Amino acid sequence: GTLSIASILAETARRHPDRTALHFMDQTIGYGQLWAQTRAYAGALAARGIGPGSRVAMIVPNVPDFPRVYYATLALGAVVVPVHLLFKADEIEFVLRDAAADLLVVAAPLLAEGATAAARAGVPVVTVLAPEAFAAEKGLARLEDEAAAATPIERHTGVNPLAPATVMYTSGTTGTPKGAVGSHLAMVEQVHCSLIDSITMDAGDVIYGGLPLFHSFGQMAVMNIGFRVGASIILLPQFDPDVALKLLVRHQATVFTAVPTNFAGMVEAARRSPGRPPLRFAVSGGAALPVALLEAFEEAYGAQVHEGYGLTETSPSCTFNVTSEPIRPGTVGRPMWGVDVAVAASDVEQRVELLPEPAPGGTSELGEIVVRGHNLMKGYLGRPGATAEAVVDGWFRTGDLGTIDPDGIVTIVDRKKDMILRNGYNVYPTEVEAVLARYPGVSLGAVFGVPHDVHGQEVHAAVLPGEGVRLDPAAIVAYLKEKVAAYKYPRVVHVVDELPLGPSGKVLKRELVERFAG
Ligand code: ATP
Repeated sequence: GTLSIASILAETARRHPDRTALHFMDQTIGYGQLWAQTRAYAGALAARGIGPGSRVAMIVPNVPDFPRVYYATLALGAVVVPVHLLFKADEIEFVLRDAAADLLVVAAPLLAEGATAAARAGVPVVTVLAPEAFAAEKGLARLEDEAAAATPIERHTGVNPLAPATVMYTSGTTGTPKGAVGSHLAMVEQVHCSLIDSITMDAGDVIYGGLPLFHSFGQMAVMNIGFRVGASIILLPQFDPDVALKLLVRHQATVFTAVPTNFAGMVEAARRSPGRPPLRFAVSGGAALPVALLEAFEEAYGAQVHEGYGLTETSPSCTFNVTSEPIRPGTVGRPMWGVDVAVAASDVEQRVELLPEPAPGGTSELGEIVVRGHNLMKGYLGRPGATAEAVVDGWFRTGDLGTIDPDGIVTIVDRKKDMILRNGYNVYPTEVEAVLARYPGVSLGAVFGVPHDVHGQEVHAAVLPGEGVRLDPAAIVAYLKEKVAAYKYPRVVHVVDELPLGPSGKVLKRELVERFAG
């Protein structure tokens, strides 16, 4: 059989050519128009020899060229390799070589690092968004010019459903970055199962599109899902809560899908500006959402927040607080259709030893969350050893600790690697962060372990104050000391102007540890 993720755009364009696919700056782009542009880009890529099995790396922010390049590549049966926008030349070079890229498409504003990397790896480069004069001066090829000269493809190529569609690199917190290979089938299944069971959405919806599309969360839970139903996406290249709020109001957004730090920003923006979009619901994922923040968002925007859980390796969603039912705050909901989620002994390395099912009324023991199902990656590109370590007996070890209720509701306690060991006691930062989020005037807090001579690790917190609030670190320490057990409360609280965020908007705890160690 044959299948393609490119059908998502092609079919919607056929059915609803006049509907708005994208709002971007002052442009409105319809589905018919976007697919025509994509077919022209595909014609240009084909003229460069890109075809089934080729690999096209792309460094493109959230602009209309992202979907054009993405679906053009997939429409040819080639594999897309979206690169982190903040990667430096060395990291990009690694990805280009590791993925054996045949071409790099890079947006002109991000050209410097990409061009250096591509030259070193011997990979040809074509730009998008390069002004003509600039391109002429630098001798750059422009995909826009090549598309204007090429014959657009007629229709997209189907491939074996299990053929690779994307290679998405993990940032490499634990060693070399690894490319998770997603198949067309896994991704199409994920889109359909999400829409049927988890996220009820239709062509009338207008979705916030500020999550980076190179990352699995934004790519799947915003772009592929939104385009599948013919909804409109408001594209934002950078997250600024005040700009986001203005655009959400202007385009009358109905769905807000984001990471917790974005929710914190939106709550602050709501204090500064009176307008509200007509949100039907919001979706949070990518990191733990403190219940206090979920409540603050609901109060400010009048929309319920549905938290889900997933990873790049699982395309990405595994569990969800579905939008058709009341939520269970503080949990990540139920496994998606066709996805098995279980808890395994976290200290058993070579095999997956599932913990006993919870007794009625109880929860399972705490263990490592393991997942299997249609959403699982094919493996890490060219790394059978790493794949065999991660996927044991068909179960993918997530590296996250959690529990499951008898009724199947999953709670994520924390990442194994973020757990703090103080005087031999386990401290789970997420739990303390949820308490910290209740302190008046705290916009967002991050708890982390700093190496300590006596205790092994000491518990620290970095706290971002809300709009116009002055926070007293000593008072916060006293509050936490009252609210959580003696071994858990942060002895040191740092009030900060900014938390270090990764490209997907998650807090980078490694950077906090480095900054406050010693
Ligand atoms: P990288 O790939 O850059 O190393 P990462 O480890 O954050 O970054 P992702 O695939 O982006 O990788 O994110 C997956 C992780 O995000 C999960 O393993 C989990 O730790 C965390 N996560 C996702 N959703 C939730 C959630 N709802 N609650 C708690 N943690 C979550």
